[in-house]
Amino acid sequence: MDSRDLICIGCPMGCNLQVELERKKVTKVTGNICPRGKAYAEKECTNPTRIVTSSVKVENGQVDMTSVKTESDIPKDKIFECMKCIRRVKIKAPVEIGQVIIENVAGTNVNVISTRKVKCNI
Ligand code: SF4
Repeated sequence: MDSRDLICIGCPMGCNLQVELERKKVTKVTGNICPRGKAYAEKECTNPTRIVTSSVKVENGQVDMTSVKTESDIPKDKIFECMKCIRRVKIKAPVEIGQVIIENVAGTNVNVISTRKVKCNI
């Protein structure tokens, strides 16, 4: 039997979770105050995912960069590849909030979208 200690990121309480695993399957979670802690522990131990936030360069805009994020969680082991794709991108102003910047980033079926509006530099 394996065990892992995690801190739940479900809310600011940050409960300390103790997870017991049997053949990579979660068998017991303790330390959680609510059911979200158990769900987080199970996901983190079997299929960890994250939202990625970053920024990309903007040409001809009132500012040189815009903030971006993945539309939803992507597998943790795809974060490095995702960041490589984001670093390569340069877009032209104008940029709208929610505009798709990269489709299907790193083969995850998740888009990277802008989270900031950038007007053209007139
Ligand atoms: S277990 Fe519940 S109360 Fe504790 S940090 Fe997670 S979401 Fe918050």
